[in-house]
Amino acid sequence: MSLATILIVEDDLEMRSMLVRGLREEGLHVESVGTGAQLLERVARCSPDLFIIDIGLPDADGRDVCQALRAQGVGAPVLFLTARDALPDRLSGFSAGGDDYLTKPFAFAELVARLEALLRRAGGEPAVEVGELRVEPRSHAAVCGGVSAGLTPTEFRLLARLAAAPGDVVHRRALVEVAWPHGAIVRENTLDAYIARLRRKLAGLPGAPEIVTVHGVGYCIR
Ligand code: CA
Repeated sequence: MSLATILIVEDDLEMRSMLVRGLREEGLHVESVGTGAQLLERVARCSPDLFIIDIGLPDADGRDVCQALRAQGVGAPVLFLTARDALPDRLSGFSAGGDDYLTKPFAFAELVARLEALLRRAGGEPAVEVGELRVEPRSHAAVCGGVSAGLTPTEFRLLARLAAAPGDVVHRRALVEVAWPHGAIVRENTLDAYIARLRRKLAGLPGAPEIVTVHGVGYCIR
């Protein structure tokens, strides 16, 4: 786990300094703040590879902070810390866009193992490029002409699939399978709605390629 930057938000000073010290010893670059507002302010400056978010913050619920990050297009993995271990809490942590969950008190070795797994998953895929456009797995963003647009996980999977074969028509069924990988039943027009959102995002990026409709078949990026 070298060179990765972790941003921690934790208001308990003892817990916070234990995390900072321990993770620095693991060779990570660690920054920490004490409130949700400070986290949202800091994130732009340090572009973290991973977040550790305490759910019980003095100014906000950590899950709302996570949702705010996702709404800003920040896709880096989030591990929640909480003193509560009730099942509804776990579930709502994931629906808020979190990737993992650890209940206090925890063994430090377990935290490290989970962070390693999250970083491995996040960094596993290389960026895909089409012309000037880069589709970045780490930040879940489309970057072109010096401008970046955040993508939701579904938008990211769709764009990465199209970008993997520029100029080729990707069939509708293949796009549905990659975008909704767990066999979710989606309406025929759901795919079109997501493509429309992607097009709007690409339209905001100078010099980005276009997604072209091939009627009755699928879509193509070029
Ligand atoms: Ca707390």
